[in-house]
Amino acid sequence: MARVNENFLKLQSGFLFPEIARRVEAYTQEHAGAVADKPIIKMGLGDVTQPLPAACVEAMHKAVDEQASADSFHGYAQHVGYDWLREAIAEHDFRSRGCDIAFDEVFISDGAKSDCANILDLLASGGVNRMAITDPAYPVYVDTNVIAGNTGAGLEGGGYEGLLYLAMTPDNGFDPPKPTEPVDVVYLCYPNNPTGAAIGKEALQAWVDWARERDVLLFFDAAYEAFITDPAVPHSVFECDGAAECAIEMRSYSKSAAFTGTRCGYCVIPKALTAKTAADDRVQLNPLWLRRQRTKFNSVCYIVQRAAEALYSDAGKAQVRERAAYYLENARLLGAAIRAAGLSVHGGENAPYLWVGTPDGMDSWGFFDHLLREAHVVVTPGAGMGPAGEGFVRVSAFPSREDVERVVERVGPLL
Ligand code: PLP
Repeated sequence: MARVNENFLKLQSGFLFPEIARRVEAYTQEHAGAVADKPIIKMGLGDVTQPLPAACVEAMHKAVDEQASADSFHGYAQHVGYDWLREAIAEHDFRSRGCDIAFDEVFISDGAKSDCANILDLLASGGVNRMAITDPAYPVYVDTNVIAGNTGAGLEGGGYEGLLYLAMTPDNGFDPPKPTEPVDVVYLCYPNNPTGAAIGKEALQAWVDWARERDVLLFFDAAYEAFITDPAVPHSVFECDGAAECAIEMRSYSKSAAFTGTRCGYCVIPKALTAKTAADDRVQLNPLWLRRQRTKFNSVCYIVQRAAEALYSDAGKAQVRERAAYYLENARLLGAAIRAAGLSVHGGENAPYLWVGTPDGMDSWGFFDHLLREAHVVVTPGAGMGPAGEGFVRVSAFPSREDVERVVERVGPLL
């Protein structure tokens, strides 16, 4: 009989969002009248509300027409994405910022979630590698390591044995101290989900220097790059000297260009990047990823790749900027209201998330319940995104302006 991957059974499975949904549902059932008068506003989830940029829609219509005719039809794409899209990315996202990235170091995917998860295929599994993960974090980093057998059992109060958690706190500027014990891989995410924090070039260079000295691999998730407004914040890890020898970067069009339901992203694996065999030989990771994608992936729909390419036109770039500005204005409005009410607020300047300290005497879930009951506003309890998230909630700036204005009105008097 087939044996199951028992690592799945270790997952403290999807506790956060199902638990949020359960509490919202229970409250709605009990207070149907009040909810009808004052509908619940969801400030928790990370989906966007503004539609696809016009440049993408136009490119997609054109591509659909091409698919309708035998002369211009496209079947299977190159496994790693079309060279014209890889080249546009290398040029506009990297070389224009002084990063020496070639088109064949760019691998198109159906989004950063897949890349953040699948990238573990490149590494030995079963706990051979010691993984360090910033805390709190996008849950995919942790759960995929559980599935790959890189952890022990789940711990009381959150977290897993065997993973090294790097606490991001206001005291360390959301840039945790470098691990002092041996690790093989560190996950970094800047601008950060969920804390909304960003770090400057010097701080990121310090991670790169540290990683190179210790032969550590960095997974750098830059899914929120489009929201950077501070010129001192690097847009890519490859702006740092030597990063091509120690880092893989993941990017996404989901939040920048409303691709959450359209699906496209990419990762960059430089040819200079290597990892060790058991015999201590060094192996390039770029050709291994090419091999992996050829084996397991048939690329992204032609129409969607044309939409992604359109983001690099002048019109496309302007429409991405408009979207980021819209969500960052939401963040500003929310941040001002919450701050005025006396709570500590972090993030929101280079990322579409606010990380809000809970009022004295309330933990993450306590504050969640309070906001649900008193304001009919749903946020994300920080404790659900890692042990260091306790004492905070994440407020998303992705809802519509109308909803943001309603929330601003509701939370002011409440807090
Ligand atoms: N990385 C981070 C930090 C995220 O917050 C998200 C989505 O919320 C993703 C990756 C996944 O993005 P995608 O929609 O491209 O799969």
